[in-house]
Amino acid sequence: MIDVEGKRVLVVGLGISGYAAADLLARKGAIVKITDNSSGTEAGEYLKRLSRHSIESEMGDHTKVFCRDVDLVVTSPGVDPRALPLALAESKQIPVIGELELGFLFCRAPIVAITGTNGKSTTTELIGKIFSLSGKYSVVCGNVGNPLCGEVDTLDKDSVAIVEVSSFQLETIEKFKPRVAILLNITDDHYDRHGDLDGYKNEKFKIFSNQDKRDWAIIHSNLSSEDRIGSLKSRVLFFGDGREAVKTLNEEIAISLPGGSKLAFKCDDMALKGAHNIDNITCSVIASSIMGVDEDYIHEAIRTFNGLDHRFEDIGNFEGIEFVDDSKATNIDATRRALESLEKNVVLIAGGRDKGGDYSSMLSLVKEKVGTLVLMGEAAEKIKNALNGITPIFIVDSMAEAVAIASEKAKDGDIVMLSPMCSSFDMFSSYKERGKVFQDHVKKRFLADHE
Ligand code: ADP
Repeated sequence: MIDVEGKRVLVVGLGISGYAAADLLARKGAIVKITDNSSGTEAGEYLKRLSRHSIESEMGDHTKVFCRDVDLVVTSPGVDPRALPLALAESKQIPVIGELELGFLFCRAPIVAITGTNGKSTTTELIGKIFSLSGKYSVVCGNVGNPLCGEVDTLDKDSVAIVEVSSFQLETIEKFKPRVAILLNITDDHYDRHGDLDGYKNEKFKIFSNQDKRDWAIIHSNLSSEDRIGSLKSRVLFFGDGREAVKTLNEEIAISLPGGSKLAFKCDDMALKGAHNIDNITCSVIASSIMGVDEDYIHEAIRTFNGLDHRFEDIGNFEGIEFVDDSKATNIDATRRALESLEKNVVLIAGGRDKGGDYSSMLSLVKEKVGTLVLMGEAAEKIKNALNGITPIFIVDSMAEAVAIASEKAKDGDIVMLSPMCSSFDMFSSYKERGKVFQDHVKKRFLADHE
């Protein structure tokens, strides 16, 4: 626990994390001020909600005058680490922590933390489902859009915090110490923030940095040769590889649990589809079992948890064509895993804002699975250049056009999948909006009465 009573704390960034941190700090008696260099409506809304406390604020800019004379700085994951308030604090040797760390310092419950490039939200929510079926009080929070700071007062030592953790959040932890930490995978992403793969891995492995020998590190076997694992103090368990499992889809997956027992389930019984979800299920099973959840609840969750919107989401069969919304595939590996999970001929809609990955790594998979490639957004030309000559490619200007061409090219029994390999911000406000616009155009085209 940390005592912030009477301390002068500067919160940097007023999105959902900054709001939760400021609210918690004010409730705990800190003298809080907030600086946000944007002045968008979101920040304005949060400021209104904070008006029950007496909090000074600076919107639209960060100034030296406002940011000085504080004892602690709490930053938000979206804030550039080079931003003025953080640089100023560093030069004056004022401690800087992130919202996640602040939440941890107030958290009485054991934490199950989940990180990785892809699969965090799905795995976090699945573990949440397992716990909620078991009846044990738990909260799903963190990077899922529900900051830990907003939940800590509901938690005690007998409950569990299931926390999705991003690499941005891990940049600013110090003592954050999960009882169980899962690392799902690390593939190309976020190099604009972390520099390169090595820098990105350093942040991801920080999730284990404060664990001791009573804690558990659950790591994907693809990462088992990482030197960083040698220095971990926690008990390390590796979990399997869904890519092999997909070839034996009708067979059982048997998961070895700590203590020597096994939990087995049939792939056919999984409500989640796709080989990548076998990874997500496997580590969720191990984590829940370590935390003492009864097997029956785990089996029930495997049978009933059918995933989140815009993640490899089957939106229906229209005139013999299956439509899949995988708008959350904002990097190459997410699309790779989706394609690997499909057997039939795919019409792939991809493109958006490029994140610097190597699209040519998809050459053989696209050649094998994709009958037509429809590209949109800023990255369209780059993707076309990387994948030229292996399949027909169409470049379009809008989602409406993408759906129209994809539907025309798809034959009976084919799959049209939006799985962009890119972020959405060139054309949409978020992956959610992109997925919704895709679904709306599909429904408009095939359902006469759809508005
Ligand atoms: P995150 O929270 O890490 O972004 P999500 O669960 O929201 O992860 O899924 C993001 C994208 O990654 C979706 O396209 C989803 O189908 C895909 N995905 C989910 N789990 C995995 C996994 N284990 N490996 C690779 N891709 C995955």
